[in-house]
Formats: sequence, structure tokens, C-alpha cells
Amino acid sequence: MPELQALLKTYFGHSEFRPLQSEVIQQILNGNDALVLMPTGGGKSICYQLPALVFQGITVVISPLISLMKDQVDAALNNGISAAYLNSTLTTEQTTKIEKGLRTGEIKLLYCAPERFAISRFRDFLKTLPIKLFAIDEAHCISEWGHDFRSDYRTLNLLKKEFSSLPIVALTATATSQVADDIVGQLGIPNAKRFVSSSNRQNLTYRVERKINTFNKLVSWVNKFKGESAIVYCFSKKETDSLADKLCKMGFNARPYHAGMKPEKRAQNQSDFINDKVDIITATIAFGMGIDKSDVRLVVHYSLPKTIEGYFQETGRAGRDGLESECVLFYGASDQFNQKYFIEQIRDPLQKEKRYEQLNQMVGYCELKKCRRKQLLNYFGENFGQDNCEGCDICLKTESRFNAADVSQKILQSINQTSGRFGKSHIINILLGRNLKKIRELGHNNLASYGSVTDYTKDALSQILANLLNQNFIKRETGMYPTLSLTEKGNQSLELMNVDENFELQMDEPEIEIEIESPKIKTSRKMKLKSNLDYDQDLFEKFRVLRKSLSIENKIPPYVIASDKTLIELAHYLPKNSTQLLNINGFGEVKVKRYGNAFLELIQE
Ligand code: ADP
Ligand code: MG
Ligand code: ZN
Repeated sequence: MPELQALLKTYFGHSEFRPLQSEVIQQILNGNDALVLMPTGGGKSICYQLPALVFQGITVVISPLISLMKDQVDAALNNGISAAYLNSTLTTEQTTKIEKGLRTGEIKLLYCAPERFAISRFRDFLKTLPIKLFAIDEAHCISEWGHDFRSDYRTLNLLKKEFSSLPIVALTATATSQVADDIVGQLGIPNAKRFVSSSNRQNLTYRVERKINTFNKLVSWVNKFKGESAIVYCFSKKETDSLADKLCKMGFNARPYHAGMKPEKRAQNQSDFINDKVDIITATIAFGMGIDKSDVRLVVHYSLPKTIEGYFQETGRAGRDGLESECVLFYGASDQFNQKYFIEQIRDPLQKEKRYEQLNQMVGYCELKKCRRKQLLNYFGENFGQDNCEGCDICLKTESRFNAADVSQKILQSINQTSGRFGKSHIINILLGRNLKKIRELGHNNLASYGSVTDYTKDALSQILANLLNQNFIKRETGMYPTLSLTEKGNQSLELMNVDENFELQMDEPEIEIEIESPKIKTSRKMKLKSNLDYDQDLFEKFRVLRKSLSIENKIPPYVIASDKTLIELAHYLPKNSTQLLNINGFGEVKVKRYGNAFLELIQE
């Protein structure tokens, strides 16, 4: 449909539809119901905003969070779509004005919260208007099977009863078929056509890291994305507060967000994050549902999430703009016990069983040593065909294998030289050349292996030792004195290593304690580039500064003015005039008119 494509360019600045967008739009324009399952960042908004532009009448969007509506409306207005919202934050005068705008046909897109829809007087008002479409955003909120049930959504079953002639489009990023069935059931649209796009988020890298030295690891990660946006999900309000505090003390710009805070303070922190005044939000899960900020580069789960669904939704908040982003989960057994403690308090046996099942799935995800992406997609009933996804810690692991022959040789030597009569910590102390009484008394400070290891920490050596045990180079006595000695394989390899320079012994690189000053994080090459385009990093930074000042001037979030992806394209293509600017992804006619000159001037300079 060429007209639709023209609208896409004019209003949204995109030249092509993403998968399924035009099919959904077609279905809606034909007056039929639709259920849209698309991952976060997939582009659901356009599925109802573009029909809203075509219809001679009003599109009503039901959206769960009042705090979001303003941003959603600002974003639409900024694209030149006449939009408004009705919720409890408005004064009577503001409400009256919007109601008038709806009657006169000035407003085409109306956002409202489900609790408003529940009021019969409000529905009676809606019945007097030329409504053409109802869009239910975050539709999984209607289902108790979803991870975000909201009882107010239940009144939406009145839609098909009271507005029976109007089409409904329900949209969600949650992709389990159980939730999907429940949504169409609750809404009374069993025949709605389903549009399911892959849940795969290609630009996200999934990692699970051991929950040891966790804060330092966190610092390395946020350091890596310093000046960019990150969300850190925590288990408790207390953890949320203390992490934000500790991060601030280290010089990061972090704020907490949880249900125990004063609502004004919480709203302030959220809005500061959205407006790039704060880089890091530490939050309980209450944060971020439907936050449309497109340039979150890092999502950390500091503790084990409760469900795979919730985890997937939360990680989904990273990289909506399609640029490379990281999702890091810290996993330690103690988190499991924490959750079990809470599950044990649940009275309802069915509920309890369900929670245990969810916990097991979550633990299974963390512990299984197979491609994370494949596992996640599999959970949502999708088959991921590739062998290596190149975007999870397991698949990237090949890069972190190292030749351990050298250090292994030293370990084996040391065990050999002490005749297999000592335990792990003594061996490590010898290798590290520790000046200890026991070592001196035994004369082990005269061994060739004494102090022979300088480039590994105690922790790292311990992991390499565990690997050598696992691979049967050494064995450990059981019982009171767990001494280490060489196996036959160990003896043979030691001889081989002595004579053969080319001997290779591959093992997983130990997780070396990360120094705060010089963070060492293994990254894929792909990630460092963030985008396939070559671009001038300095100019990109200048664009970011300009975007920020435009954002303050116009009182709208920076990401609404332009996404990082748009800025990167600008820095790569360096458009010279408005016509060229229109070719940049994200610049529609309205944006070129409003902000075009500011960017063009900067490029001229
Ligand atoms: P969702 O609601 O599915 O999470 P959004 O509607 O917020 O996703 O869109 C996510 C991002 O994708 C936005 O930055 C939007 O501008 C961009 N986007 C949507 N459709 C397209 C498209 N056809 N081409 C390029 N970018 C798009
Ligand atoms: Mg959305
Ligand atoms: Zn993988």
C-alpha cells in the first residue's frame, strides 16, 4: 500500500514497515479485530497510530500507566499526530478542553487508563463520539496468567458488549499462548486474527554471571556504559536504595525506584531517567513497564528474577532502537533460598506450586550451559534454528577460552614437587610465592614453582585447579585431608608439556577479579561497534548534547526528539539539507521542520 508507506515516512520518518506492521494495519483498516504479539521495541505503536491517521474519527488507546501517557502523547504530538490523554492527573479545565477537542474532531488519538473506562459515565461520553478503533496496549495486563495482572483491565470485557461494531486491536510483548488465549477470551474477540512476530531480539546479548564480587562486576558494567542509560533490577526495596547509594558514592549518577518511596520522589526519579538527567535507575520490578525510552543500553538483574516471562519483558527494555545492548543477570544459589522463603509463605497450594515451577524454570535458565537465546525462545514456543546465536555468554564463550598449558604446567609441577601430599590452598600459596611460616618450615620456598605464577589471582588459580580436577589431570583425596596428587593423565601431560612447546590445553578463562579502575569485560566485537555504520564518535556526542538542549527547550524527553540510532545515521551520512535529512531514519516531515535546522547547522560546523 503506497499511501500507507507515505504516511509512515511523513509522520514517523521511517521508509519501510517492520515485519507484520502493514499486515496488522490492513486488518484494522478493514474493520477487523487483531491480536498483535510483538517483542518490545518491535514497533507496536505504529500498528494503531497509523490507522488513527487514516480514520475519519477517533482511536482510543487503553494504556495501563498514567505516568506513561504524557510521554506517549508527547511522542505522538512530536510526530504531528493530534493526540491527548484523559486521566486523573488533569484538572477539570484541562479535561473539559480535551473533551471539547474530541467533539470538534480536533483530536484523533485519545489515550486513557482502564480505570477511567470502568466508569459508566465515561463510557456514555465515548458513545457520543465518532470512535473508529479501540487499541488495548500491554494487553497481557488483562490476564492473571501474565506477569502483570491489573484488575481494571477486566472491565474491558464491556468493549464488545457496548461498542460491538468497533474493531479492537490488542497488543502485547508477552508471547505465551496461554496468555494470548486468555486475552482474546477476556476481550470476547475469539476470532481476532493473530499476528505473531518472532520474540527474538537480535541486538540484545544475554549473559548470566556468577554472583560473586557482584558489586565490582556491576561497577564494571555501568562503567562501560558511562553516560548512557542503564536499569538495574533488584530483589528488595532495601537493595534498591543501597545500590543506588553505593553507585552514587562511586561517582555514578544513580537513583532508586520502588513502591516504598514517596510517589512524588519516585515520579521525579523516573522522569529524570527518561530525560537523561540520571543515567542509572536501580529498581524493583515496578519500574519500566511500557517505558518507551529507546536508548537503554544495559539491563542488569542484580538478583534472580521471579519468572522467565518477567525477565524477558524486563530485558526487553534494553535497545528498543535496535542498537546493540547488554542484558546481564547475576546468579547465585542464595537467591533461590530467598525466593523459596517467600514462596513458603503462600497459603494457596495451587499458587504455591505455580511459583515453585516458575522458580525452577528460572534456575534452569541460569544453570543450563546452552545457548540462552535458544532457551528463551523455546520457552515462548519458538524454535531458534542457528547453532550459535553470537549474542549470549555461552555462544560467545569460545572467545574466552584460553591456552592454559603454561599455568597448568606450573600447577602440576608444584603438586609433583611436593609429592602429592598437600591441599589446594597450600599449592596456591606456593605458586603465588607467599611468605608463610608453613612454607618456610617445609622449605617449599626453595621449589622451582615457588612464586612462579604472577599473572593470576588466588581466585583464578582456584578455578583453573577445579578445571584440572574436572578434566582428570589431578585427583583429590576424600576425607579429612583433601590432598591433591597427579593422575596418570596428569603425569603424562606434565612430561609432554616439558618437551613439547606446542602442547595446548584449552579451558574456559577463569573469571578474574575485576579491578574497579580497569574493568575487563569480555565483549563481542559486534558490541563495541554498537551499529554497523561507521560514524564520527565526537559528532555523535555533539548531537547528543544538542538533543538534550532541544529536549529541555521543548519539554519533551530526548529520545522523543531522536533516537540514538537516528543520531548515528546523522553522524554517518552527514545530510546537507532538509531533503537529505528526510532520508534519515526517524526524521519525518514534522521533525525536519521542528529540529532540522539545528542539526543541519551543527553538521555545517
Ligand atoms: P513497542 O511498543 O512494540 O515496544 P514502539 O512502538 O515503541 O515499540 O517502537 C519501538 C521503536 O521502533 C521506536 O523507536 C520506533 O520509532 C521504532 N520503529 C517502529 N516502527 C519502525 C519502522 N517501520 N522502521 C524503523 N523504526 C521503527
Ligand atoms: Mg509499546
Ligand atoms: Zn546463544
